[in-house]
Amino acid sequence: MNRIQPFAGFVYREVRFRGGGASLRLDIHLEAHASQDGRCAWCEKPAPGYDRLPERSWSFVPLWGIPTAFHYAPRRVSCPEHGLGVEHLPWSAGKRPVTIAMMDFLARWARRLSWRETARAFQVSWEAVYRSVDWCVQWGLARRQLEGVQALGVDEIHWGKGLRAENFLTVIYQIDAHCRRLLWVGPRRTQASLRRGLATLGSELVQGVRFVCSDMWKPYLRVIAAQMGQALHVLDRFHINGHLNDAVDQVRRGECRRLDGRPRAAQLKRMRWKLLRRGSRVRGHAKRQLWRLLGSKLATGRAWMLKESFDHFWSYRSVTWAATFLAVWCERALRSRLEPMGKVARMLRSHEELILNWFRAKGEISNGPVEGLNNKIRVVTRRSYGFRTYHAMETALYHNLGRLPEPPLTHRFC
Ligand SMILES: [Zn+2]
Repeated sequence: MNRIQPFAGFVYREVRFRGGGASLRLDIHLEAHASQDGRCAWCEKPAPGYDRLPERSWSFVPLWGIPTAFHYAPRRVSCPEHGLGVEHLPWSAGKRPVTIAMMDFLARWARRLSWRETARAFQVSWEAVYRSVDWCVQWGLARRQLEGVQALGVDEIHWGKGLRAENFLTVIYQIDAHCRRLLWVGPRRTQASLRRGLATLGSELVQGVRFVCSDMWKPYLRVIAAQMGQALHVLDRFHINGHLNDAVDQVRRGECRRLDGRPRAAQLKRMRWKLLRRGSRVRGHAKRQLWRLLGSKLATGRAWMLKESFDHFWSYRSVTWAATFLAVWCERALRSRLEPMGKVARMLRSHEELILNWFRAKGEISNGPVEGLNNKIRVVTRRSYGFRTYHAMETALYHNLGRLPEPPLTHRFC
């Protein structure tokens, strides 16, 4: 124990088995160093002792699968500055009945397993895992470095079932090439949500930002314009692709309804993913099906062609040429008599400047950092963590994507 978890000022007095069979326990008794005063919990300076409280116990990392606990009777000390209080216990965090080592241990496993699996594997309650992760997250949030953040990504994430306001989250990412992480997550996708997030990150960070990536979601556009006027605001490629894909899918569904009952309708129904993929990535039988669709006079085929031809936009280097292409493309989409495509064209036109900023920022913002982080969020929210509350989910997101600092321990248990 001294080698793995030494605590200055304390000694391991005794390690004992208690009980037997399934109720076997391992008790580790600690004692204060006889010649050393306890330290004040606030300033950690030595202070004269006052009295001793009854023994408390803290669960520790299970050894050989046997539940293990620390036992110690804390002293009260009277600090000249902070008055009378319980001494500083380096393995303990406040009133929690779990050692810091154990919380760190559970939190690390909770990144690899679901919280329920972690609880089962180490014979603790789900709440114990949750509280451990929460403690580590709070510890990390209080100590994380926010200097040097230059590029932000702002996005909305759908969560749970339904499309009510509560089913959306606002997320703020750092998307610098050297560091991509979740900086903030909060409920809803309103102006107020984003303002709250930016306020939490602090005005120093917000004013130092050089690039912001976001979707065309109006509340976000407003807040970004108002608070980060110095930054180049970019509507990113991944979101624009998303809008184009949605439009193709709307055309397809509309056509399915119109053709209801005819063999073409059933065929169109099965085409969904082939239409949403990038054309160059569709191969084999699927590719032949796609070509047949384009040969037919179906509206879906024309919509798909429009979507595919937009891809060329991203290959420009010159802002002028990109602008020309955009104007021509929008013209075509508006004349296509495909209402969903026309709608996208109108949206692109009205945000032309922000879309062209992508070319002005070229090289500084890589292709899809927001998309990548969104996918990771989905993995966390979908993996059956058994989140019972919003706060639990938020905690899991910071835990997995926040790249938070972790409490320093002399030994890693996993
Ligand atoms: Zn003190």
